Amino acid sequence: MKKIVLSLVLLGALILSVKAGENFSYSQLLKEITTVEPIQAPDPALERSVMPTPADGRYWVTVKAADKYARTRLLEAGLDIVEINKDSVSGFAGPYTMGLLSSKAFVVQSRMTIPEYAARMGKDFPAADAAYHNFKETVDLLKQMAAANPDIASLFSIGKTVEGRDIWCLRINSSAKGEAVSSKPGALYIGNHHAREHLSNEVPLLLAAWLFDHKNDADIKKYISTLDIYIIPMLNPDGAENDIKTGSYRYYRKNMSMNSDKSRGVDLNRNYDSWWCQAGASTYPGSDTYCGPKAFSEPESQAVKRFTEARKNLKTHISYHSYASEILYPWGGSDDDIPNAKDRQAFINIGAAMGKLTGYRSYKSSEMYIATGDSCDWAYAAAGIFAFTFELEGNGFYPGAAILTNAVSKNIKAAVYLLSVTDNPYKVI
Ligand SMILES: [Zn+2]
Repeated sequence: MKKIVLSLVLLGALILSVKAGENFSYSQLLKEITTVEPIQAPDPALERSVMPTPADGRYWVTVKAADKYARTRLLEAGLDIVEINKDSVSGFAGPYTMGLLSSKAFVVQSRMTIPEYAARMGKDFPAADAAYHNFKETVDLLKQMAAANPDIASLFSIGKTVEGRDIWCLRINSSAKGEAVSSKPGALYIGNHHAREHLSNEVPLLLAAWLFDHKNDADIKKYISTLDIYIIPMLNPDGAENDIKTGSYRYYRKNMSMNSDKSRGVDLNRNYDSWWCQAGASTYPGSDTYCGPKAFSEPESQAVKRFTEARKNLKTHISYHSYASEILYPWGGSDDDIPNAKDRQAFINIGAAMGKLTGYRSYKSSEMYIATGDSCDWAYAAAGIFAFTFELEGNGFYPGAAILTNAVSKNIKAAVYLLSVTDNPYKVI
């Protein structure tokens, strides 16, 4: 999303920092975030940004829903629930879902087209969000960080996306590099399962920069030498690039798979093999909550599966999403509590501690609605990983650059807290 001018500024800053013998640092990135606000016109990117958001057949709707079971049924009808109110929910619905919603079983309270919704939100200006990192900028930054910290960092691809982009993973470990197996307890951070949730890329990306900045602090030094830390900021780069490629946000959620009916995309966070597609997901390919033709049908979710299964040392995990200011733990796909009482208490206590650091509410995922096939249910069920879903903050999917400093810095605190319990998550009980 960053404009060419800003890339040049960034490059200039990088050259200066290299000259000064410094690494590409978190504090430097923050400075850029807070100084990108003034945009020099005229600029073609800026002009592109005032083009209206294209209509794509979807509506932003508000539908009556009294409880989580009603919300679950709406997900199954293909409604992409974004906001939950006391007696209703709001979200995106395509033509197929709109047809289902017109039946007597549902009450649609309001609806508007995507351009109407975008105009209401007033966030239709990607040029103003230049501080966010698109795929190329993300990869460049990861490469720079890895190159600047060869003693503790390495970078490798965990697989390719539908469109052939690499899914990059930055590893921080004082001994093992690349894909070499480690017996040190592992922590895994993943962003951007969902295309339009760009803040979920920024948090893990800047977490990496922060860790390198603070690598000589006593506690961080200890984590780097005793843990195996993995950061995958952009799991769905195809979708993220699709969301911004016209210069106007598209509110795009899924990956870029071509479906059997020629519609695009599978909801990656409904595609994992945890009660796959049994509740809170849609079998209709065009819908935003489409679970895919089978569990792990998608290269992006397959990459996470392979990555996780090859690393038995993984103990903790955060999957970043936006936006609700919430921390969620299993199960998401079942009403039940997880059966292991000790694990349950560890989830509750770790979630509460991270909630304190972020101001987010921490609770069992299925209290919101039941949604099967999500990554954290799978990571816990398949590998016993203490896996949390973070719904980051904001007033929408595109909260602007001004939110970054605060949102990122408090989430770094929570991520570092997770490192502090990764050696033994049960010590919080
Ligand atoms: Zn999400």
